[in-house]
Parts: sequence; structure tokens; C-alpha cells
Amino acid sequence: MGILKFYFSFLIDFFFPISCVFCERLDILSRKIGICKKCYHGFPKEAEENGLCEICKTPLSEETCDYCNSRNIFFSELIFLRLREKIEKELIQNIKFHNKPYLSLYFRIGLRKKIRNWRKKQYQAIVYISSNKKTLKKRPIHPCKHIIDYLTKLFGIRAINPFQKVSSQLQSGKSYRDRFVHAASAFQIRKKYENKLKGKYLLVDDVFTTGATINELAKILLMNGSESVDVLVMTKGKQTTSNH
Ligand SMILES: [Zn+2]
Ligand SMILES: [Zn+2]
Repeated sequence: MGILKFYFSFLIDFFFPISCVFCERLDILSRKIGICKKCYHGFPKEAEENGLCEICKTPLSEETCDYCNSRNIFFSELIFLRLREKIEKELIQNIKFHNKPYLSLYFRIGLRKKIRNWRKKQYQAIVYISSNKKTLKKRPIHPCKHIIDYLTKLFGIRAINPFQKVSSQLQSGKSYRDRFVHAASAFQIRKKYENKLKGKYLLVDDVFTTGATINELAKILLMNGSESVDVLVMTKGKQTTSNH
């Protein structure tokens, strides 16, 4: 780090210190990720990853995966950084709606290890979707920016947004079934990328809820020449299948 850059970051830190989003304490860790040491160490330990579907990481009740069996899955593997529990929900809310993108650094802890099997895959690019124009004004920084920046450096590749939103409706608020129906027509490939993709892609997004949108985006990538698509999300809901 250059000396100027160092002083600059020191000044930023001095004038805009980041206190803990949970308790407002200020310490070395909260300055970095917006969560203080005390809160961080008080978080419940991560659950074991045994007994999950190898593709979509849904807990398996039997030998087979209900989620993957009930539809065509277009991505090769999903990796989530944290399960969506109370803390993760609060962090995502703060990242997305209270303009605190640095909180995503919490999800970056341990990321390198989680994706170790993907290091040799030689992705063509990191793929992301941008928020729609309405939310873009309130949220100028992509919720996954820090994760995307880290991955582009790690893999030495660029990040692209090859999708165009063709429906202004939001997924949230829709019923489980409607999410899948809507997702199928919500996005299309930009002209520039039409049938121009090749090789493997890594799709990065904030949350995997029903997976409707993510699966549809993976499908669009495949339809336009991609060989395979892996997915990385910051958090995943415990249950991906509908109870209704
Ligand atoms: Zn705290
Ligand atoms: Zn599955």
C-alpha cells in the first residue's frame, strides 16, 4: 500500500469510523467489516455441511434431492457462504437497504477455502445481475461488490453483467409457484453476448431463496454458449422447496 493511500484510508477511518451494526461498539474488526469482535465471536458456529445435496445444497431427507428432482437444474453446483439465519438476514437487510455494503466482508471470511475446488476451473468471467433502476438509486453499490472484486482478483478474470431485465416486477412478494413462472420471462441476454459465450462461468448473487431467478439465469448462459455455470451466493435459505 502506498504511503498516500495508507494515510488516506487512515483519515477515512478517523473521520468515518465504522461501528458495529449490532451493538455500535468500535474496534479493530468493526472498522473492517462493520461487526465488532465481541459480536462476531458470539455468533453461533456454522452448521455442518454433511447431508446436503451436492448440487443445490438442500438438506437431503432421503437419498435423493426433492429440489433437483422437481425441476431442471441448469447450474452445476451451488456454494453458499452462510446459511440464512437471523444474523445473516439482518446483515443482508443492512447491505441492501441501509447502504452498508462493507458488511458483505463478513461473508468473505472463509470464502477462499469454500471455493478451493473451483480454483482449477478456469472460468471465463464472474457473472452478476444488477439491481433494477428503482433500487439502483437507493443502492448504488452492488450488494456483492466486495465478493465480486475479491473473485476477479483471485481468478484474474473480469466480471460481466450479460443480462437485461425485461420485467419490472420484483420476485419478492410473489408466491413460491409464481416466482418460477415470473423468473422464466424476467431476464434476457444482452445483444452483445447473444450466442457469444463459451467455457465456464461463475454466477454470483446475494441470496438463494427459491433459486428461481438463479436457475433461469444459468439457463440463459447455457443457451448462449456457456459450457457450465457454478453459483456462489452469500446466503441460502434453509428450505428451498415449498411446503405448500
Ligand atoms: Zn458488536
Ligand atoms: Zn439438489
